[in-house]
Amino acid sequence: MNGALSAASAAELARSTFRRLAALRLAPTPENYVRVWAELVRAGEHPASATNGFAPAQAARPAVQATGSADAAPGIAAAAGASAAWRQMWEHSLHLGLIPASAAQPALQHRAGKLLARAQAPDRELPGDNRDLWRDFQQWLDGEHVAVDGMLDLFSSVVAHLGAVFAGDSAAAAELGTLQQVVRRPLDRPRIELARSVIEPWLRRQAALQRGALEARVTSRDVVGAVMRSLGAFLAHNERFNQALQGDLRRLESGLDEQQLGELAQELLQRGVTLQGHSSELGAQLQRAQQQAEEALQRIRDLESELQQASQQLQEDPLTGALNRRGLDVAFAHGIVRAQQTARPMSVALLDLDQFKKVNDSYGHDFGDEVLRGLVQVARKMVRPADSIARMGGEEFMVLFPDTDADAAQRVVQRLLQGFRNRRLLHQPTGQRVELSFSAGVAQCSDGEDFGALYQRADSALRQAKEAGRQQVFVAPAR
Ligand code: GH3
Ligand code: MG
Ligand code: MG
Repeated sequence: MNGALSAASAAELARSTFRRLAALRLAPTPENYVRVWAELVRAGEHPASATNGFAPAQAARPAVQATGSADAAPGIAAAAGASAAWRQMWEHSLHLGLIPASAAQPALQHRAGKLLARAQAPDRELPGDNRDLWRDFQQWLDGEHVAVDGMLDLFSSVVAHLGAVFAGDSAAAAELGTLQQVVRRPLDRPRIELARSVIEPWLRRQAALQRGALEARVTSRDVVGAVMRSLGAFLAHNERFNQALQGDLRRLESGLDEQQLGELAQELLQRGVTLQGHSSELGAQLQRAQQQAEEALQRIRDLESELQQASQQLQEDPLTGALNRRGLDVAFAHGIVRAQQTARPMSVALLDLDQFKKVNDSYGHDFGDEVLRGLVQVARKMVRPADSIARMGGEEFMVLFPDTDADAAQRVVQRLLQGFRNRRLLHQPTGQRVELSFSAGVAQCSDGEDFGALYQRADSALRQAKEAGRQQVFVAPAR
């Protein structure tokens, strides 16, 4: 054995070094590469490396000097191979890692771009400021993490406090409970999306409600103010009446002749009439005020139900009454949280009507619309209330099945297909019964899978069902 390293084992050694770098979360700088390489060799973790003459310094530099010795030739080839692999990895880590990751830091991105351009020039050594770039990137990332952590703490505490504020509002408490589940570490992009899709419609609704309630409260305050003012006026008048009465009594006691008594009676009567006028005016005012207060209350109630309806409409497909994409996003967000809480599976089915263009062409667009509504009606009858039906667009629908694995979802969709086919909608003008069917793809949501990925899997199962002749329900393989 001459101890020289073959090209294959050099590549393997290089791969081990990269793996170790990744495991240690070290930036792939030439210095780190060489250090880790040397550690692997020292630890004898790589059998082929134990006796080879492949110097670490050469690994980082493609321009290895030939010694002229016959034994050294394979070593040089190996070094060149490993060095090329290193360079490729280094370029990839800049190109696919640092550059996109530092999108929010243009200065870093610019430096990385310049480094990459210099390194790509033939026969150039890897630039020395590579290490500085990675160090700065790491520092920036550390800062980012601190900021994100702080934001997360702040957000969690806001959600917790909101929970106390809305303790009496069960709908709000449920939304906030969902949010609390979503805002957990580690916070990743799909979960941020999830939080957004839950909180956005809710905040909009709360804001509108607040505006409406404020308006109604202002009306109530005005009403109370008006009553107080008229009550005050009445009491002032009443006081005068009392004083006048006392005077009259004194006059009565001092003894009056018939004519004087007659005049007093006239005066009393007059005052009585005035007082009565005032009190009936007050009565009417009170009645009006009460009515206004009731109207204000009713306005709050109407507003609440209007908002309820409006937020439902925001999530509803107007043609079929199924959820729209927005509604599905919210249902999906709730579904994910529920699946995490209960550790139970959740599945979706993507349905697409078969040969629907032909249906439209043969029987007209209005009939086509009726078919779409009909499918939703049948589906509503055949799925559980906890399941959600959404129109994705055109003649494509999604059914979301919480607490359901893919096999159970497939059985439900198969029953639904049977029900839909049996329906054979009547085309009124011709009296014809029209044959209808759909194809479907079912997929069970796997841990951490986002909506996009789940949809893709259901869609490819659906495509397979179409290719296999339509009117079938296929299940996507587990991820
Ligand atoms: P396949 O079995 O391969 O799915 O064939 P298809 O004809 O159903 O598929 P294609 O995508 O070619 O046609 C979809 C048709 O759905 C075309 C479009 O006119 C019709 N469509 C989409 N939205 C509506 C709608 O709101 N109402 C009606 N009546 N038709 C619609
Ligand atoms: Mg389609
Ligand atoms: Mg279709």
